[in-house]
Amino acid sequence: MPEHRAHLRGVRPPRPRVVIAGGGVAAIETLLALRHIVGEQLAVTLVAPERSFVNRPSSVAGPFGLGGPAPIDLEALARDQGAELAQGALGAVDRERRVVVLDDGAELSYDLLVVAIGAVPEPGVAGAVTFSGPGQIADVTALLDAVEQRGARRLVFAVPGGVTWSLPVYELAMMTAADLRARGATSVTLGIATPEPEPLQLFGEAAGAAMREMLDARGISLWTRTRPLELRGGLLHVEPGPPLRADAVISVPKLAGPAIAGLPSDSGGFIPVDAHGRVAERVYAAGDATAFPVKQGGLATQQADAVAEAVAADLDLVPDPAPFRPVLRGLLLTGGAPLYLRAELTGGAKPTARTLRGQVSGRALWWPPGKVAGRYLAPYLGTARPVELGTEPLRDRASAAGASPAAERDEAYQLALLLAEEDAKVGDYRQALHALDAAAALAGGVLPDEWVASRERWQRELAPQG
Ligand SMILES: Cc1cc2nc3c(=O)[nH]c(=O)nc-3n(C[C@H](O)[C@H](O)[C@H](O)COP(=O)(O)OP(=O)(O)OC[C@H]3O[C@@H](n4cnc5c(N)ncnc54)[C@H](O)[C@@H]3O)c2cc1C
Repeated sequence: MPEHRAHLRGVRPPRPRVVIAGGGVAAIETLLALRHIVGEQLAVTLVAPERSFVNRPSSVAGPFGLGGPAPIDLEALARDQGAELAQGALGAVDRERRVVVLDDGAELSYDLLVVAIGAVPEPGVAGAVTFSGPGQIADVTALLDAVEQRGARRLVFAVPGGVTWSLPVYELAMMTAADLRARGATSVTLGIATPEPEPLQLFGEAAGAAMREMLDARGISLWTRTRPLELRGGLLHVEPGPPLRADAVISVPKLAGPAIAGLPSDSGGFIPVDAHGRVAERVYAAGDATAFPVKQGGLATQQADAVAEAVAADLDLVPDPAPFRPVLRGLLLTGGAPLYLRAELTGGAKPTARTLRGQVSGRALWWPPGKVAGRYLAPYLGTARPVELGTEPLRDRASAAGASPAAERDEAYQLALLLAEEDAKVGDYRQALHALDAAAALAGGVLPDEWVASRERWQRELAPQG
């Protein structure tokens, strides 16, 4: 019986209702965190236009025959977490009446609202292929096939100006280098154009130096402090400086804010929030939709965790919610061993006394080592096994100085795959999935397509019958 009717019959008093708008990284982390913090004390409704959560960060490996975690069915996830899923898109918020209006005109009332609807991706470089997620895997694959067939060409990977997340550009460039080498297409020249002063500047100096070395080793040219504008007539027009010769350009999207009627927004359409993700009375926001300047999945989950605590505190279910304290964790796919990057602000209370401390390592700097380093979402996504939520949230690990990641990964990775196959052969699918988890962790969370298919097959074997 729906809860709002149950209380009319005097069955039990209704629980406060939290409506979470969104079905992505921040929305799911908010739901998982709320359940971890307050259990079943709240009724939760997730409002999302789509039926499944697809892991966008891992999709960069798609054009190279690698797959990330399987999509998660939102209906099943909501059911597991004791929440309801309402299919639809948030159109407006009526804060007076505490009601959200969906795009089809339906209304949903809330006691507390969390807006986690992400940003709007837009092409950042005219004439380029804009890689925004799984939808563009086929475009990049077709481009690489064309490059291989037509001989010498110049490919430039571009970080657009404005609000964006640059890491996938470096991943796409390095995985392309490995792919073209494997195809024997050695006459293709590759380059990266970025407005950043140093590659992956946000991760600190060590990351910049490591990136320069890796790009150099792969023969990938680098133009920093360069804003790519438009590909036209075999030239990539940039600012400042002369155009770069390019036959094709692959870019990441430029992001715009969602600008929802009834909520405040800045000039870019993003929602301003305080340190607890509060937008207005009883309204919170987390993730790419907010005005926080860095749009990244790991940060989106940290914002979501802070929001979940603040929501629980607002309802007097917990004391003293912790504010959002950003720690940037990035897993870089390279076409070989992955690279782990972590950065946080350290130093005094005054902004001027603070410095960015970054770490780079070939070994996982957090566990489980997923691409979206969320306290609850990473364990949920990072394993092929069904996880018991909240038993093992994400943890940081120390870096290992001097480790040689490439050499170490390959043997361990091949062994883990072999063990997975052996276990599956004798029908021990649970153990086979454990071994596959280990292999995926060694490869940065992605696996060749044939192993992704094996994983799905083994999971089906394990699923309860009926
Ligand atoms: C190619 C690429 C690679 C990336 N790689 C990484 C990486 O390696 N690591 C990392 O941490 N980050 C990475 N990012 C960034 C990361 O994907 C985002 O920062 C993250 O997904 C933001 O989470 P979010 O929940 O705020 O938004 P999203 O994940 O975009 O989710 C928004 C959700 O809201 C839904 N929605 C939209 N409008 C409405 C509406 N009106 N009403 C209800 N629901 C709505 C959407 O359908 C979606 O379900 C990458 C991004 C790209 C494009």
